[in-house]
Amino acid sequence: MVIEMAKPLDTHPQNREGIPDKCDRYHGLRNLGETCYLNSVLQVLFMTEDFREAVESQLFAKSQDNMTVDLQLKRLFETLRRREACTNELISLKLGNGNGDAAEDFVKILSMVNPDVSKIFKGQLRHNATCSAGHMAIDEITPFWTLPVSMEDPTGVDNTYSVRDGFEKFFKPSSISGDKMYCDVCRDKAEATIACEMEHPPEILTLYLKRFKVDYRSTLVKNDCCVDVPHILQTENSEYELYAFVDHVGSLRGGHYTAIIKSYENQKWYLFDDTKVKQLDSQPHNDFTTSRSAYLLMYRKVHAPDTVPFLRTGGQRDNVMMKTGKEDMYYTPAGRLVCPFKWTAPEAIASKKFTIKGDVWSFGILLYEIMTFGEEPYPKMDNIQMAQWVAEGNRMACPPHCPKAMHEIMLDCWKKEKCDRPTFKTLQTKLKILVMSFGASCRVI
Ligand SMILES: [Zn+2]
Repeated sequence: MVIEMAKPLDTHPQNREGIPDKCDRYHGLRNLGETCYLNSVLQVLFMTEDFREAVESQLFAKSQDNMTVDLQLKRLFETLRRREACTNELISLKLGNGNGDAAEDFVKILSMVNPDVSKIFKGQLRHNATCSAGHMAIDEITPFWTLPVSMEDPTGVDNTYSVRDGFEKFFKPSSISGDKMYCDVCRDKAEATIACEMEHPPEILTLYLKRFKVDYRSTLVKNDCCVDVPHILQTENSEYELYAFVDHVGSLRGGHYTAIIKSYENQKWYLFDDTKVKQLDSQPHNDFTTSRSAYLLMYRKVHAPDTVPFLRTGGQRDNVMMKTGKEDMYYTPAGRLVCPFKWTAPEAIASKKFTIKGDVWSFGILLYEIMTFGEEPYPKMDNIQMAQWVAEGNRMACPPHCPKAMHEIMLDCWKKEKCDRPTFKTLQTKLKILVMSFGASCRVI
């Protein structure tokens, strides 16, 4: 008689979907011979709103060397918006690491692009070591692109590994024995406690599950144990929401990478498998996704948990305290600053998500301040009056002495729909043309 052990249910949607069909909204990337690791990572980057916009808004001189990662990424993204694309040019820039490891390539791309483009993925850790007498012997800050999550001790039922536990464990202080650290104050070797904390939480937090490791025979092996992937991850000061998985399916040799990504445009989940892209029928909706293939996990920071609930509840101000006057800032009951209200896009306030299109709104306000020689926006309104007035579709009028064309740029920045607002690239072009047209009448004094 064969007794079958109960196996944990795999709730990862990919495993239930089979081979994907065509998708009209998003397009695939051709596999140029085991480039699935690069394709998966590029799709995640393309589907990360602020990253995509930062790549696309970069300006390149015509004479500029074609062989920069930024320029090639921009071209690739432009193609991906319309049709299937190819990564030949990127591969020729030696993006591929030869090992075909998605985690290594992800880091490689981020460290090669313009730092302004990749900054949303960059965090900082503070490491310190304190001797048993309480002297701080090491205190240093290091940047990171991904945080490794060790998969040494499965804790759940049927050897399921909890990503949340692994993540928390990363920040737990640990002791090191006396022969490993020297304390300058004690002037001796000392036992110490080492600790690590998040100095700067990145906008996008990427966890990297250590599925691949070298075993006692010095052979690289894959750990395909089942993991519980939480959709919400809480750090000391921030909350993160899962929006992408890079999966490694199959064995170490002959394995394959795919990506499962939640679209920021329609909030649906899609599977990207080289040229195949498919909207998933079963949308992950539980608190956890169980997976044997999750390898990289991307979480987006959820902003300001207590931000302006009155906007959604029609005027109740219970949870917030307004501070009017010069600062016009927004505070939570604990006194924590949330955002400069009159400068923030309405959807950013309502959704707690700050995007580059929200920055465009704020840029419009900045233009207003410049054209009024530093006057406060919405001068006769308090924050709540302003929010209601703007929600009704009103916008600030053209200031005296401000060219009409400049006011039109402001109005473009304040379009209700995010997607109707210009990109920074367009703004740059429009402003340049406008300022050049002043040229004839303006002189440098
Ligand atoms: Zn000491």
